[in-house]
Amino acid sequence: MHIELPRAARLLMERLEQKGFEAWIVGGCVRDCLLGRTPHDFDICTAAKPAQTISCFEPEFHVIKTGLQHGTVTVVVDGEPFEITTYRVDGAYSDGRHPDEVSFVTDLREDLSRRDFTINAMAYHPVRGLADYFGGAEDLAAGMVRCVGDPAKRFGEDALRILRALRFAATFDFAVEARTAQAMHAERQRLREISAERIQMELRRFLCGPGVFDQLVSFADVLCVPVPEIAPMIGFAQRNPHHRYDVWTHTAASVQAIRPVPELRLTMLLHDIGKPASFSLDKRGVGHFYGHPARSAALAAQILRRLKFDNATAKTVETLVLHHDDAVEPKPRQVKRWLGRVGETVFRQMLEVRRADIAAQSDWRRAEKFRRIDQVEAVLAEVLAEGQCYCLKDLAVNGVDLMKAGVPQGKQIGETLNRLLALVVDGELPNEREALLCAAQGFAGGAARTDGREARS
Ligand code: ATP
Ligand code: MG
Repeated sequence: MHIELPRAARLLMERLEQKGFEAWIVGGCVRDCLLGRTPHDFDICTAAKPAQTISCFEPEFHVIKTGLQHGTVTVVVDGEPFEITTYRVDGAYSDGRHPDEVSFVTDLREDLSRRDFTINAMAYHPVRGLADYFGGAEDLAAGMVRCVGDPAKRFGEDALRILRALRFAATFDFAVEARTAQAMHAERQRLREISAERIQMELRRFLCGPGVFDQLVSFADVLCVPVPEIAPMIGFAQRNPHHRYDVWTHTAASVQAIRPVPELRLTMLLHDIGKPASFSLDKRGVGHFYGHPARSAALAAQILRRLKFDNATAKTVETLVLHHDDAVEPKPRQVKRWLGRVGETVFRQMLEVRRADIAAQSDWRRAEKFRRIDQVEAVLAEVLAEGQCYCLKDLAVNGVDLMKAGVPQGKQIGETLNRLLALVVDGELPNEREALLCAAQGFAGGAARTDGREARS
């Protein structure tokens, strides 16, 4: 087994070992290399205490000491930072989040034993090869996420590991080993102890994994701890020919069906969360969910704020959830209205959401539904290629032009611009300066006449 290490990582390890301190690369990068993936960083662990690590590299290298209380020293080589962490074990976790103290140890095996999963608990050295005390390579080959040690105890120490297990399973499309899975279900309430920021970061990465469907279905109860609003969706029968799944299974399938970027995956997770509360049954026994997009959008807003998602993500997701079920006709006028309303990026995302939603429904009329989106996309391409006007900045006049033409300053300028835009989008006016100014003066004249009439009556 051979791992190609970056020159800088080799240099750092050699330097430590020349000074008599054992050093290995460790954790996620070993796992990623064995999987044939490119790791995003190479972490080093060493028997050297932090002060000794520092003295190996200062003053020749820039050394950053911000992680010192956890035993981490960051050394910058050719502008690239490398974390070098002293072998350590974690003390008690009285808050289930942070070890009360960390103690440095001299044995690599001890350091590996405090790590969460066997696949993350391997070390590698260019000469000594792989150090794998817990069967990590075997689990990696079998596609298995398994705790190092007793799962219940490990999740009790740090409940975030429950979400990390889901994240790794989804990312690598792995299964969760049976005892580990059992402990995740049993210990799930401990996720209440974890901060919103940490949950949010794991959730984001979990949702973007290619194996997310299986984990969403198997661990719905776990996700209900940070997002209890999910609970009513689970097993909720839709009783409608468009659907073959209950609301939660449909949700999970739609998450899996969309491109793996956080805002799209979050949109699918939340798009139908207002469905159970919107359910009604018609005379023929068919289920309907009138008004569910608005309900879902309101719940989504609440959940995203609670989990401290950034405003940009929250806003995009809310918009996409709100419009996920809106009719879009494959006509230039309609497409331009959407473009003016939400912009090209969000409009394209709306179409992606629509495709994922359809893919997760029943196959009743599916081909027809997809064909309609193809047509909308064709119209969109046309509108964009022709450089047709759909937003205020495309309009051949602006606010200053209107003021010069005598439209009173203030609210009326914006209103006039929007009115002109609507006429241009609808094809009732050409997007030409003269025609637009003339129309604007016409509006103003109309307003004056109305006022005059009112004054007389
Ligand atoms: P990635 O960087 O792709 O998220 P990673 O495995 O490197 O994956 P990090 O969060 O960077 O994950 O952590 C580095 C290593 O530290 C892990 O591989 C694991 O060995 C250990 N580790 C991280 N978080 C925990 C935790 N909560 N409990 C136990 N060990 C952990
Ligand atoms: Mg990492």
